[in-house]
Amino acid sequence: MNRLDLLSLLPEELETLARRLGADAYRGRQLAAWIFEKGVYDFQAMSNLPTEFRARLTEEAVSGVPRVERVTGSKDGSQKFVLSLADGSRVQAVLMPDGDRLTLCLSTQVGCGFACAFCFTGTMGLDRNLTTGEIVGQLATVRQTLDPGTRVTHLVLMGMGEPLANYEATVKALRLLTHSDAFGYSPRRITVSTVGLVSGIKKLAKENLKVNLAISLHATTDEARERLMPVNRSWPLEDLLVACRRFPLPVRRRMTFEYVLLDDVNDSAEDAIRLTRLLKGIRAKVNLIPFNDWEGSGFRRPPLQRILAFQAIVQEHGITATVRWSKGEDIGAACGQLKEPGLTERVAS
Ligand code: SF4
Repeated sequence: MNRLDLLSLLPEELETLARRLGADAYRGRQLAAWIFEKGVYDFQAMSNLPTEFRARLTEEAVSGVPRVERVTGSKDGSQKFVLSLADGSRVQAVLMPDGDRLTLCLSTQVGCGFACAFCFTGTMGLDRNLTTGEIVGQLATVRQTLDPGTRVTHLVLMGMGEPLANYEATVKALRLLTHSDAFGYSPRRITVSTVGLVSGIKKLAKENLKVNLAISLHATTDEARERLMPVNRSWPLEDLLVACRRFPLPVRRRMTFEYVLLDDVNDSAEDAIRLTRLLKGIRAKVNLIPFNDWEGSGFRRPPLQRILAFQAIVQEHGITATVRWSKGEDIGAACGQLKEPGLTERVAS
């Protein structure tokens, strides 16, 4: 019998489970406090739950979190966690300190099927979707490793995989991350990054989750974007930008557009100007990501002068543009560098 993964359940669902197992509903809330607030996953250690209820839980449920297989520290203070899941699959989560912020980048799939040409993760192909419990479990595991009093302050769903291609599990994970009786994060502190899956953006717009949205744009014409990102064949720029314009942005918030700068591919002054035209009418900010080289990629990082010139043009047009020198570059944890050996290597179509 498949046992229920309690990390995949909302506090209300834990109440229902408690009743089904013969306990009062409030026992479900106590269970939620142990799992989500206190980070205790062993039923026997949940001292305020009746012995009989704990025994029933042991029979019917699990509350396992991913196991840390390896942690690699970077010169810039970021840490890459290789986490192994119950079936032996591996995913990565990256912890990035920046002043008062401590951001954790979470994966939503094992591998990724979108095959963006510049992305190392994309060369793995998609192995499988993560469950809700496996997505939030990455946070549960990583926070156990932190010093007392240290808290992950921000979360980005930008690790391995495309969050909106694993829609149901991702949305439920967002509900758990923002639920006041679960992880309790403000939606302002959570960002979902998408390759530009228009159908998913439209659905997410109706969820009333109020999380931030980041769009991986990376090119300013359909022709160039199709070469870099096969997803553009299904969802061309115009459709994508219409969906972005219609996305209900909370007041005083902006949508982030990620733009990886590739030497002589998408880094010209014309590209910069076209980018500002594409973003007209959207409260947007642009993250410029100088390409993180990996062997066999076929791309290069543009010279610094061109990176700064691109940034200057975008800013002259009234759009905030920040150059993101990726964290964790030296440990293979930077944007588009996440890949885990031991999984079948294949290039997705
Ligand atoms: S950039 Fe994102 S969507 Fe594209 S292949 Fe890499 S992980 Fe997948």
